[in-house]
Amino acid sequence: MSTCIFCKIIDGSIPAEIGYEDDHLIGIADLHPIAPVHKLLIPKKHIATLNDLQTEDLPLIGQMGLVASQWAKTLGLAEAGYRLVQNCNEAAGQTVFHIHLHLLGGRSFQWPPG
Ligand code: AMP
Ligand code: ZN
Repeated sequence: MSTCIFCKIIDGSIPAEIGYEDDHLIGIADLHPIAPVHKLLIPKKHIATLNDLQTEDLPLIGQMGLVASQWAKTLGLAEAGYRLVQNCNEAAGQTVFHIHLHLLGGRSFQWPPG
């Protein structure tokens, strides 16, 4: 999608600090981190919200979970713990309408979230 920030990062037309990439996913540093470690794992396929997931996306979603857990280990977060977050639509605070998984670590997190 030509107007989507994350599609532009994926096609290289706007810069990002890339920490992970494979055929289906890209992992970048969040521009406005809310934790000492704040990464975004983004599918290369443009899917606007979790509401738009299709059955055919099942392998992609599974891969996101596995890669996020492996990346958390690589980043040294696994033992202390970390948080994975996906916001869907406005009530949850979604601001970029191309699905992404926040990988947050390096501090303690509250529960329930705000
Ligand atoms: P969400 O509010 O769940 O949609 O998360 C969107 C995230 O994208 C926010 O944490 C933003 O800081 C982050 N973000 C927005 N633009 C960029 C960008 N150009 N590069 C990296 N992260 C970005
Ligand atoms: Zn997009």
